[in-house]
Amino acid sequence: MSFNLDDLLRPNIKNLVPYSSARDEFKGEASIFLDANENAYGSPLTKWYNRYPDPLQLKVKDKLSEVKGVPAGNIFIGNGSDECIDILIRAFCEPGKDNIIICPPTYGMYEVSANINDVYIKKVPLTADFQLDLPAIEEAVDDNTKIIFLCSPNNPTGNSLNREDLEVILNNYWGIIALDEAYINFSRFRSFTQELEDYPNLVVMQTLSKAWGLAALRVGLAFASEPIINVMNKVKPPYNINQASQELTLKALEEVGMVNDMIREIVTQRGVLETELAKLPVVQKIYPSDANFLLVRVTDAKGIYKYLADKGVVVRDRSSVTLCEGCLRITVGTEAENKALLAYLQSYLA
Ligand SMILES: *Cc1c(COP(=O)(O)O)cnc(C)c1O
Repeated sequence: MSFNLDDLLRPNIKNLVPYSSARDEFKGEASIFLDANENAYGSPLTKWYNRYPDPLQLKVKDKLSEVKGVPAGNIFIGNGSDECIDILIRAFCEPGKDNIIICPPTYGMYEVSANINDVYIKKVPLTADFQLDLPAIEEAVDDNTKIIFLCSPNNPTGNSLNREDLEVILNNYWGIIALDEAYINFSRFRSFTQELEDYPNLVVMQTLSKAWGLAALRVGLAFASEPIINVMNKVKPPYNINQASQELTLKALEEVGMVNDMIREIVTQRGVLETELAKLPVVQKIYPSDANFLLVRVTDAKGIYKYLADKGVVVRDRSSVTLCEGCLRITVGTEAENKALLAYLQSYLA
């Protein structure tokens, strides 16, 4: 067995003639653009917002290539990671027939996106220490399993998956392996973006929504072999990343130093928060985190959630999620926000 993209794709996608936009069809130099039915008189904002944006975001990808050390041809940009997830499912999974594997507790969008597309979901829960259950995954894979979604560091548990386990899957499974690295910048471990040459079926997903502080711009990244990137480009809406997001992303990517300072500070504050939480009577367990949040088991998750909310502090109640019973997921805030949180938790029932 080996990876065969054509066999893996849905037949309708394999045969798809993609939409060809005005911007795709004319690539030369020109000064008068009368091909796209834009408003030639301008826009109420700055003058270039009257023009359609670059459908393939080439300037942004060139800059991303520098920052991430991945060739531009191996990069796809989605309207958030959520669009990358949806496009993978739509490209590879035949509704009502194919399936994906997910390993809960994990990010909710894999399941929602599969459900929207009427694609079966096989759930192989993580082990008690939140690692992959390799024998159970092997058992679950069938001829219609097109994608295995893995998340490392995982949300909501915060831990990284063992690298050797990921390698076992990468070396033995020939469907698409979608590895979600939304939190990789906070992790001690290195990204799989440098392993793409070894694994033609690997799609590494990242996002600018977390460490980069750009959740509002909706910029999700997928890194993969060129044939997979080409498929994703074929399936995506023609202008999926708007001009404002492209411009602002380009500007933000100049600020690697500032972003690294923020990441260091968040990781430091994660440590402080962990130490201080551990002293509180309401806290029973804090799970190790490679992300910008902590999964914390408390004495009374629902009660504490409500108490905090009444004080204006919102955390995520994960207490009804299997393997996360009694847990709250707490994002690392600013030093002042963390202190306020700790003070409220200290005063709970006190
Ligand atoms: C937050 C998060 C994302 C980010 O999604 P965007 O659509 O890019 O904002 C992706 N995956 C996981 C696991 C996340 O927690």
